Amino acid sequence: MALWITGARNRQALCVEGGRIAAEARRPPQGSETLDAGGLLLLPAFIDAHVHLSLLARAPRAFLKNGVAAVLDLGAPERALPFSEAEPLRVRFSGPLLTAPRGYPTQSWGRDGYGLEVASEKEARAAVERLALSGARFLKLAFDPRYPLLAPEAARAAADEAHRRGMLVAAHALDADSVRRALAAGADVFAHAPLEAVPLPGKWVISTLRAFGGTVRGLGARVVYGTDLGNEDTSPAIDARELALLERDGIDPLRAATADAAELLGYPDLGRLSVGSSASLLAVRGLDAESLANPAWVMNCGTLCL
Ligand SMILES: [Zn+2]
Repeated sequence: MALWITGARNRQALCVEGGRIAAEARRPPQGSETLDAGGLLLLPAFIDAHVHLSLLARAPRAFLKNGVAAVLDLGAPERALPFSEAEPLRVRFSGPLLTAPRGYPTQSWGRDGYGLEVASEKEARAAVERLALSGARFLKLAFDPRYPLLAPEAARAAADEAHRRGMLVAAHALDADSVRRALAAGADVFAHAPLEAVPLPGKWVISTLRAFGGTVRGLGARVVYGTDLGNEDTSPAIDARELALLERDGIDPLRAATADAAELLGYPDLGRLSVGSSASLLAVRGLDAESLANPAWVMNCGTLCL
């Protein structure tokens, strides 16, 4: 059954059918079922590119209800994979962080399986193979000088194995030396904004500015929105403070949380509202951070979440 969303301030009428946007027209055909957006703005649902679903019960439902249609989980124990219980929230994931024996985060918050220790190239390749088979599309390498660091050959072997399997390599690397180690290993994605300015042309940076600080100004990288859900004072929703910090750093927060994040996660039908894309959308009052974070209503795959 087709439903036409009419009356949006920024869009023509959108026809939703079978969970997708099936058509767009100036006005719906006579006699159609309609939903009046009442002058609100229609935007694609958001994507959070840094979360930890396994640190918070019932996060997938809450994300959907609050306007987030997809997430990238950048740290979970192998026993939690592949997150099939999170459906219909769409989830890409890395599984545990690959790290040195006793490396970050195995001696701190990640004691319980959030780090996967590898001591050699061979172990690194075997670990990546296992994660790939469990459905991981990303690999995450840990570089934290407070703890033992991955041997450069092991880090390179892991990244190489991941690339061979079509995965992207993300890195936890905050200080300049760690960023250089991550680059030398072959990282494509930085899981946090670096705390020291290091040029990262051609790379992806996930913001997490509110949870971790730093800046995304002047990196020359593509920046996407991520909250690091699971840290203190985060919740499974759109974070107005993160959006405001992106804006402060000269990044369009809407694009960082929609089109660009969809490209990083590899969801071509998310992050935009065009014919054929998923009918996962927000109706908001304005484009300021507060309005974006507090949608008037949310639709996920054609279903209204009230
Ligand atoms: Zn994290």
